[in-house]
Amino acid sequence: MSAPRKLHIKSYGCQMNVYDAQRMVDTLAPEGFVETASIEDADLVILNTCHIREKASEKVFSELGRLRVAKDEAALRDRRMEIVVAGCVAQAEGEEIIRRAPMVDVVVGPQSYHNLPQLLARARTEGRALDTEFPVEDKFARLPQPSRQAIRARGISAFVTVQEGCDKFCTFCVVPYTRGAETSRPVARIVEDVTRLADNGVREVTLIGQNVNAYHGDGPDGRPWTLGRLLHRLAEIPGLARLRYSTSHPRDVEQSLLEAHRDIPAVMPFVHLPVQSGSDRILAAMNRKHTAADYRRVIDRFRTFRPDIAFSSDFIVGFPGETEDDFAATLALVAQIGYAGAYSFKYSPRAGTPAADMQEMVAPAAMDERLARLQDLIERQQHAFNRAAVGSTVDVLFERPARNDGQIVGRTPYLQPAHVMASEDIIGQVLPVTITRHERYSLFGTLPANAGAIPRQTRTPALTGA
Ligand code: SF4
Repeated sequence: MSAPRKLHIKSYGCQMNVYDAQRMVDTLAPEGFVETASIEDADLVILNTCHIREKASEKVFSELGRLRVAKDEAALRDRRMEIVVAGCVAQAEGEEIIRRAPMVDVVVGPQSYHNLPQLLARARTEGRALDTEFPVEDKFARLPQPSRQAIRARGISAFVTVQEGCDKFCTFCVVPYTRGAETSRPVARIVEDVTRLADNGVREVTLIGQNVNAYHGDGPDGRPWTLGRLLHRLAEIPGLARLRYSTSHPRDVEQSLLEAHRDIPAVMPFVHLPVQSGSDRILAAMNRKHTAADYRRVIDRFRTFRPDIAFSSDFIVGFPGETEDDFAATLALVAQIGYAGAYSFKYSPRAGTPAADMQEMVAPAAMDERLARLQDLIERQQHAFNRAAVGSTVDVLFERPARNDGQIVGRTPYLQPAHVMASEDIIGQVLPVTITRHERYSLFGTLPANAGAIPRQTRTPALTGA
């Protein structure tokens, strides 16, 4: 039997890329590849790129410069190192990568990575291979399932892609160009994937998609199902304790999703709902297709169905044409909603998007100053949210040993990391924790005296066997 070949995969960006990286590992496992943390040892290096990052392609080319050195050094040791560029930069700039980076063997877009074994074979015979098509076949149907060992190694929380692409065309965003039109996976396939994960010890699944609540996959009844309906079905899978989904668009929040939050205990009361700006003028320039008032109404509806729900969001500061009044509207919206956390970024143009041609750029100093004010407000809200947990008892799903000796860390329903002193036996269990103190981003607490002896929910299935 030949020795396994080693694969090093470096992934940037969103949860979808983390998931895609895992699926690339699964795709290459039957070809004899095993993961390595070291580039120097690798026979194959994959850069799984993200186009959302500022100066994304320049960063990829400088990373490729470093990889060329590693590839040359491997050649001096009589070893062949293959280099693959995958992900959204590969999709957007595939031809350019082939032209400028001769050390790259394969360029593959996010819709084609199930073809990696064939592309590598083609590169070995023809020198290079490029695949940035949007194939008509279902990529997911052609991907091999992860092995039981791979699922176990990835822990008790997993991502599952249910939807890809986006038809919204926000003027600042590359996703509709790099990931293509909205598509949804059939319900049966998702149920199959989640069942397999749950059978192998996964307790929490996050359904992911660029516009996940636009989900409309074919149901077993031959009709398109909504995300809410899908959540109802997945909640029936034994062993699964928690369901989450991300990322949602305010325009696609429909009744069955709200009902899922009301009716299914496993659906966590925490939603990431990007708004980007609180100014209607800027929202229109961004082509968000909703106003600030629409967004507030959506938040109110969630709160009606699930009063303990909390939100996080995304904000872009300094979008072209943003005035001080526009920015004040963003601060007002944040103050009114009250977030458990949020991501905020200075606007930077992405090549090929309509906003990249907009002329009224906000001065860098003004952007910096606005970002600092927004982040200060969000941080105070997050701090208040965490402080409010002190003295309460919350359910925590325990994930792994913490860096501090003897502590185990898990997540509350609101994704706050929560630490307790306990044995590793509690990993995989949902247990009540009395929160005694908090730090900037983390909670600390104690378990009831008998915790671990009497789990509140089904224990993780034994992680043994082939
Ligand atoms: S909805 Fe989200 S993914 Fe779609 S274009 Fe807008 S920002 Fe991009």
